[in-house]
Amino acid sequence: PVTIVWFRQDLRLADNPALLAAVERANEQGGAVVPVYIWSPEEEGGWAAGGARRWWLHHSLRSLDQSLKALGSQLVLREGPTQEVLEELITQTSACAVFWNRRYEPASIERDQNIKRWLRDERSIAAESFNSHLLYEPWEIETGGGGPYKVFSPFWRNAKNQPTPDLPREAPESIPAPSQWPASVVLEALGLEPTRDWKDGLAEAFTPGEPAAQEKLDTFLDDAIRQYKDDRNFPAKPGTSKLSPHLVHGEISPRQCYHAARKFMADGRRNLSKDELKQCEHYVQELGWREFAYHVLYHFPETPREPLQKKYARFPWKEDAEHLKNWQRGQTGYPIIDAGMRELYATGWMHNRVRMIVASFLVKDLLISWEQGAEWFWDTLLDADLANNTLGWQWAGGCGADAAPYFRIFNPILQGEKFDKDGEYVRQWVPEIAALPDRILHKPWEAPPMQLAAAGITLGETYPYPIVDHKQARDSALAALDAVKGQ
Ligand code: FAD
Repeated sequence: PVTIVWFRQDLRLADNPALLAAVERANEQGGAVVPVYIWSPEEEGGWAAGGARRWWLHHSLRSLDQSLKALGSQLVLREGPTQEVLEELITQTSACAVFWNRRYEPASIERDQNIKRWLRDERSIAAESFNSHLLYEPWEIETGGGGPYKVFSPFWRNAKNQPTPDLPREAPESIPAPSQWPASVVLEALGLEPTRDWKDGLAEAFTPGEPAAQEKLDTFLDDAIRQYKDDRNFPAKPGTSKLSPHLVHGEISPRQCYHAARKFMADGRRNLSKDELKQCEHYVQELGWREFAYHVLYHFPETPREPLQKKYARFPWKEDAEHLKNWQRGQTGYPIIDAGMRELYATGWMHNRVRMIVASFLVKDLLISWEQGAEWFWDTLLDADLANNTLGWQWAGGCGADAAPYFRIFNPILQGEKFDKDGEYVRQWVPEIAALPDRILHKPWEAPPMQLAAAGITLGETYPYPIVDHKQARDSALAALDAVKGQ
């Protein structure tokens, strides 16, 4: 008997419960396993993978196929609709079971429930789903009153009192193959890889696939975790794991990250000081934010399109196509904003501190809605994730769970001076102002004409004047807030 493993955002062999269960079943019953990926963007509720993630997916699928081949198996690729494809595959392979790992986006939940019902009730086929994407299921953690959390700290305190997440399991040693493979489309036919040369920058910055994810986790543990809390806010430092795109595609599991960090912390030979242990704990807590984001998305599935705090639906956002474009292109005249937006476009990733600064600038200085920011991030981020992106944008917009209050407005100059004091990050991404001295780098419009000339800068030509005045913009934002006050 054949078991189909329906891969989705779990593109790995290690710690993959659906795959392991299928292999165990096949070994017990003398059966086979057919790993399948079904490309079905129209089933994502309007949140199909954007350009950056499609590039990643192309390479991740290839990598998964190679890993499967090393175990005597292969990846069957198909295009949706999912139910039709599964129907065909079941007929072609005489499969009697379909296994998969759960997803939590509202459209996926609905689709998956329908598929499960159809398989079990209409086709009498075993259908099992597993948890591989989270440390804790979103419904496992409840407030004292039995409801969901909207604030991170009590959520995380509760999570830490739950049973320890299971230890990650090794990849299977081999995967029993069917006597005949069902047909697969070729990867290129899915048209995932962009044709523009934009992809070269992505490929320079990241290597998709499970082996690269493992390597990155090891490097992070060796080099950065013990000073994570101190370094994680400075975009010029390699202070964070950069594992987010791998986590989004499931090339590594949160359990693997969690237990690797715990093992590192418990390893007496490392002689970690109390402070270093705290630094490591902070990394585990960041994985907790990811859990929190999924908890919020699961319990408030409307939030990708609506603010969690409903009164913000009345906020008087501006439609300003030109300012939006200036922001997207990194041409706002504020160096830290421009550096971040250019890093995003060039590499498909942006440092968390800078994500917070650019998001605040869009929603508070430009008064453009968090949804427009979320959409741009969705298309350009390699780690675009409906739970994390929604939480991050509603945090910035002051309208989400545990959000920064709207009246607290980041000053892009002070943020730049604090978190990129030596200007290393800005000089990398905004080279046209690199010759300015540190003390003026984050506010080039204040440089005397002689200094600008000496640095080869003509404001308004080689680098823009600020597109808004931060002080005035701050006042406008606070005035706009009146529209939602008192409700
Ligand atoms: P590390 O510092 O190494 O953290 C470890 C892991 O914890 C990350 O890989 C990530 O999975 C998780 N994590 C870290 N910070 C957060 C956070 N604030 N919220 C939720 N999870 C977190 N993250 C995404 O994965 N996808 C998104 O689409 C996304 N959009 C964002 C939008 C905005 C406006 C903001 C402010 C943040 C967003 N984040 C998003 C969260 C965060 O910026 C990234 O997860 C982080 O920068 C990834 O880098 P890293 O892997 O080096 O993180």
